[in-house]
Amino acid sequence: MKKEKMKCDFCGVEDSEKNPLISGENATICQTCAKSAYEIIQKHKSEHEEGEVVELAEDIVQKILTPKELKAILDDYVIGQDKAKKVLSVAVYNHYKRIFMQEISDDITELTKSNVLLIGPTGSGKTLLAQTIAKYLDVPLAIADATSLTEAGYVGDDVENVVTRLIQAADGDIKKAEQGIIFIDEIDKIARMSENRSITRDVSGEGVQQALLKIVEGSLVNVPPKGGRKHPGQDAVQLDTTNVLFICGGAFDGMKDIIAKRQGGNILGFNQDKKTKQEQDNIMELIEADDLVKYGLIPELIGRLHMTAVLQEIDEDAMMHILKEPKNSLVKQYTKLFKIDGVNLEFEEDSLKEIAKAAKMRKTGARGLRSILEDIMLDVMYELPEYKGKTVTITKDVVNKTELPKVADAVA
Ligand code: ADP
Repeated sequence: MKKEKMKCDFCGVEDSEKNPLISGENATICQTCAKSAYEIIQKHKSEHEEGEVVELAEDIVQKILTPKELKAILDDYVIGQDKAKKVLSVAVYNHYKRIFMQEISDDITELTKSNVLLIGPTGSGKTLLAQTIAKYLDVPLAIADATSLTEAGYVGDDVENVVTRLIQAADGDIKKAEQGIIFIDEIDKIARMSENRSITRDVSGEGVQQALLKIVEGSLVNVPPKGGRKHPGQDAVQLDTTNVLFICGGAFDGMKDIIAKRQGGNILGFNQDKKTKQEQDNIMELIEADDLVKYGLIPELIGRLHMTAVLQEIDEDAMMHILKEPKNSLVKQYTKLFKIDGVNLEFEEDSLKEIAKAAKMRKTGARGLRSILEDIMLDVMYELPEYKGKTVTITKDVVNKTELPKVADAVA
């Protein structure tokens, strides 16, 4: 009797050189079927894994504050600057989504870091935005002034020292520092000299930008945990800046002119004559990467600051809101200080207007409000413990120093 030829138990094909059979104890399979079985298993496995990642990702998104929630926090402390708040909220949301995703999956190649460039006059809330976000996310924040930075080896603050500051803000916890925020102010002041502008500045601006670029784009930085030259002999620690969020800020004086020129005019010249002040202010909104290059930032650095927002100059009206409305507004802080001494404090609306006006004249944005108020309140603060049970009223004339604060028996 002819011996029956072996066949694949799955497809029935007979053994051949091209498609050999593999036999186990109870079954036989051909090479083709074995291959497709392997592929099916792999596909199933990766679908399953992908599903797991998606599920974990959904979990993560639940834990991160949404852009709207982040903006609501900023709204509690920062007046106006809606666009900047939105940009920052989205950037921070994406940033932390990216960090958490990295913990569950290697495949985050498509989620690039969203560093932020805030452009706005001094005292318009750039630092305050960064501070508020860092506080509410409970992440360490290091603030540095770009003008104090130098290339490694020069006298001044090495760029690496900013990283040291971040480690210090994280109480030495490197992992925490690696997910923190670095705010670099006055980034415009390290623009390289360009033939278009005649501002005397450190020629090493470009070198500092290059040094900054290295940490902004993400690199392993060896830093002495206690800072540079003052503590020689300490063991260096290594920090990876890949997941550090960078927020850069600058006023970029003269930028309006560059934008206007690109548009075929000159801010002070012929084509701009008919533009209202509002239109001239709004011109900043039209800023493009090319304008920043013209200003003197290196394209590589601009390329790493993906999101840009322009902040408005603080006008008198906004000053009034800043005095009264933020959760920790100056009026609320003083009222609380007085209350602790059992004194009732009242500001007449006119007095606040006068303070706003005085702050506007100082040209330091809302930064001037505090020192103006401190000056006005000094004498009354000195007498405060003796005013227990009374009401102190600040009027316009008190602000102008032509009258002393009114002290009356408190009305119940
Ligand atoms: P800069 O834009 O120069 O970084 P800051 O954020 O440091 O300005 O502002 C200085 C101070 O002025 C802040 O600490 C805050 O008290 C006040 N301030 C500035 N802008 C605002 C704003 N938009 N809303 C509330 N307070 C503000």
